[in-house]
Amino acid sequence: MPESRLTDRFGRTVNYVRLSVTDRCDFRCVYCMAEDMTFLPRQQVLTLEEIARVARTFTELGTEKIRLTGGEPLVRKDILELVKEIGSFGLRDFAMTTNGSQLPTMADDLRRAGMHRLNISLDSLDADKFRRITRTGNLSQVLDGIDAAREAGFRGIKLNTVVLKGRNDEEVPELVDFARHKGVDITFIEEMPLGQITEHDRGEAFCSSDEVRDMIRQHHDLVPATEDSGGPARYYRMPGSKTRVGFISPHSHNFCSTCNRVRVTVEGRLLLCLGNEHSVDLRRVLRGNPVSDDKLQQTIIDAMDLKPERHHFDLNGDVQILRFMNMTGG
Ligand code: SAM
Ligand code: SF4
Repeated sequence: MPESRLTDRFGRTVNYVRLSVTDRCDFRCVYCMAEDMTFLPRQQVLTLEEIARVARTFTELGTEKIRLTGGEPLVRKDILELVKEIGSFGLRDFAMTTNGSQLPTMADDLRRAGMHRLNISLDSLDADKFRRITRTGNLSQVLDGIDAAREAGFRGIKLNTVVLKGRNDEEVPELVDFARHKGVDITFIEEMPLGQITEHDRGEAFCSSDEVRDMIRQHHDLVPATEDSGGPARYYRMPGSKTRVGFISPHSHNFCSTCNRVRVTVEGRLLLCLGNEHSVDLRRVLRGNPVSDDKLQQTIIDAMDLKPERHHFDLNGDVQILRFMNMTGG
């Protein structure tokens, strides 16, 4: 695989791409979506073939890691075909972030299609609370999905939990014990101010990673892990367990200086930074050049100059970023 040809003005190498494959979802998590979402009309959404072209071009430019996300990637029709295609590129790491609802029937096929690792979102182990946070989700289906994924033999499974004060913060120790029991990793995420939501006040619901870490430390020692994910997560290990505990803290800690990633929305917008609006329209290039990928390749290389030095999130001010998380791909 070639060295990454994607470097930005600040000397960072981009070798990780997150591709959103749909804006649709079977859940309506309170921090991610409004209850009555309007989804994109089909012609604005990249076809699976177009997404595969983007993935292949990034891989040719030296990308080593691709993550599929959404929306809920597993509700996209024929997603397994795309997974199979990208799975054949020989990536070092091929992963998906999913809410787990479809895993009871799809985990095995996903693994067989070449997916290496899964991140599965799980905000509560209490069926009622789970329903209140996801609005439409069914906890037992997701728990079955987690077990199906464990049995399918993925290289790694990680749970993702967004911690909201007064909603699920007191479940943190229980979620850690659940992860230990299942032999999977778990990452706690601070809520990010993406998209205008009215369901709760983000300032009031905010629970910092430092608070979450303190809660866990009342039950387990946390030893900083030596490996660096190159991303926003900081990892810890617990004596006597293989489970790693991660924290994603966009507010408390600045991870921008080591950022190695870009995102592509399901509309084909290449986002150079999660927290900024810098972007390039790849869909226009894809549809204007249906045969050759040369222009697409050059557009991606040139876009690296737009990657800003850092993001700006603010819990107190106006919402700066009007995209919903399901549009961006978390
Ligand atoms: N539907 C899949 C899922 O839920 O895992 C993949 C897409 S979802 C947008 C990706 C991740 O973003 C999930 O772990 C979700 O909890 C997280 N997320 C969504 N909105 C968020 C927000 N406002 N702040 C922090 N994390 C958020
Ligand atoms: Fe759907 Fe994932 Fe957003 Fe929840 S976080 S509404 S599961 S896209």
